[in-house]
This record gives sequence, C-alpha cells and structure tokens, in this order.
Amino acid sequence: MSGARERVLIDEARIAQRVGALAEEILGGLAFEPRSGASERDALVMIPVLTGALVFTADLIRRMPVPLSVKPLTIQSYPGRATSSQGATLRDPVPGGLSGRHVIVVDDILDSGATLALLRDRILEQGPASLRICVLLRKLKERAAPVEADFAGFDIPDEFVVGYGLDYDGLYRNLPDIRVLEGVG
Ligand code: 5GP
Ligand code: MG
Repeated sequence: MSGARERVLIDEARIAQRVGALAEEILGGLAFEPRSGASERDALVMIPVLTGALVFTADLIRRMPVPLSVKPLTIQSYPGRATSSQGATLRDPVPGGLSGRHVIVVDDILDSGATLALLRDRILEQGPASLRICVLLRKLKERAAPVEADFAGFDIPDEFVVGYGLDYDGLYRNLPDIRVLEGVG
C-alpha cells in the first residue's frame, strides 16, 4: 500500500444530496403503487450487490418510504488487489421468488458491465414484473457487456475509486466520501 495516494472526488455532502435525489427519481418512476401495509409479496424488492453497495443501499433505502424488502447477494469481481475486473462470479445463489415482483438491483459502480449483465440475465429468467438497475457511480468508458443503468448517481472518469462502500484489497469501505486511489494496481 506504500505509494498509494487518495484524492477526494465526491465529498459527503454531494453524496447525501444526490442519494436523496436518486430516491425521489426511483419513487417517481415506479411502474406500480406499493400499497401501505402491503404484504411482502406486494413490496418492491431491492437487491444490493455486496459488498460494495452496502453503504449506498443503507442510505438509499432510508430515503424510500415505501414498502420494500431487501434481498442482498454477494458478487466478487475485483478480488484482492486487482484494480480491473477479473470477470464476475456469483458466490451466492440469486435470490428467488422474483417472479411477478418489481425488482431494483443496486450496485456501487458500473464499470465493464460484466457483473450487472450476468445478474440481470439471471433475474430476468425468473420473470419479474419489472427490473431496474441503480448504480451510485457510472464510469465513462466503453462497456464489455451491454448493460445500462436506469438510475445513476454520478458519472466519473475511468479511475480506480474507493470509499463509501468501495474497497481496495478489503480496506477503505468506511471512508465517508469517494476518493481516487492513485499509485496502485
Ligand atoms: P464490472 O463488472 O462492471 O466491471 O464491475 C463492477 C464491480 O467491480 C463493481 O460492483 C465494483 O465492486 C468493482 N469495481 C469496478 N470499478 C471499481 C473501482 O473503481 N473501485 C472499486 N473499489 N471497485 C470497482
Ligand atoms: Mg460490486
């Protein structure tokens, strides 16, 4: 880790403001009216991609005052000290029971698109009523896999970032802001 430098790209206040706006965008775009007092069956299903989307999802869902359930899964695409995608692998089974449900996948960052393309296809096999993809960050680059985010917090340059849930070799997830990590990888 010696030689690594951190440069703040997006500070806490900007993240908080944008996460609130994203929650409103998502709620405004819902293709159905989740009933208050709805059973789990009628609720929106949020699928956070762990571990990176942990912090973002925690903040986002607290800005969404509608019935929703959370069904996380873990995907690893940047093992250890890798700073470029090594291909996505599903470590957990994709949550079941999504047929006829309104599903929102929440991820930290859209990079090559491999992770979200894989997950999207697995979810679509179950026949959800709708499927939306929400990412906090979207790297401006060409994607290896054809996948678009329906909701994106910030477009960022193609640099390796950490903080607010994103790690390098397991560390930095607890930074309150998003920083570019220079001098690694
Ligand atoms: P993709 O499959 O789109 O290439 O990669 C998506 C996953 O790779 C993200 O969910 C995230 O976990 C990881 N990732 C991609 N870019 C970065 C980055 O700049 N920093 C960190 N920490 N993780 C990244
Ligand atoms: Mg991830």
